[in-house]
Amino acid sequence: MDKRIQFLIDKGEMLPLMEEFYTIQGEGYHTGTAAYFIRVGGCDVGCHWCDVKESWDAELHPATATDSIVENAKKYCDTVVVTGGEPLMWNMNYLTKHLQFLNIKTHIETSGAYTLTGQWNWICLSPKKNKLPLLEIYEKANELKIIVYNKNDFKFAEEQAAKVNNNCVLFLQPEWSNQKKMTPLIVDYVMNNPQWKISLQTHKYLNIP
Ligand code: SF4
Repeated sequence: MDKRIQFLIDKGEMLPLMEEFYTIQGEGYHTGTAAYFIRVGGCDVGCHWCDVKESWDAELHPATATDSIVENAKKYCDTVVVTGGEPLMWNMNYLTKHLQFLNIKTHIETSGAYTLTGQWNWICLSPKKNKLPLLEIYEKANELKIIVYNKNDFKFAEEQAAKVNNNCVLFLQPEWSNQKKMTPLIVDYVMNNPQWKISLQTHKYLNIP
């Protein structure tokens, strides 16, 4: 990669942008809230059920000026969701500073596998077994979202919940391709363990991005 572009990426002034779009947050605590989504390319976590595998190779996604992403975001609403890929593979300081300067709330969806950068109004931590979160993020997570693909994931969920702070909201979300099988189990689990809530990928039911 061109050295100058690499320099700007390292500073967070450019990001490998996969897509950006205005939609409704479909999952988790802020379900139903209008938000501008910024999907950054690059992920090496390797979940076999990942529904955005095309995000994995950062080289496929053009290095884009962060200023232009902020300019686009501000046309829409007061909430931005940064997702991926794994957005914390990149320096998020510049993006979040400029969004917050415009009074735009910054939300992130992350596996937590990389160092936390950026200033966030809401951190949704979604740990993955293949590459566990770094310890620092458990204290800061506002929301823990565990994707349930099979029964073993309930045990994983409890192990992860034991590490987060007391205010963190706990969600179990069926993995989409297995949701018919796992949703009834999650319903039972939440009724027996009411510290958990169910998160559904409502955007997929609504057929929106
Ligand atoms: S962490 Fe997210 S983007 Fe990366 S492989 Fe897993 S589900 Fe896909």
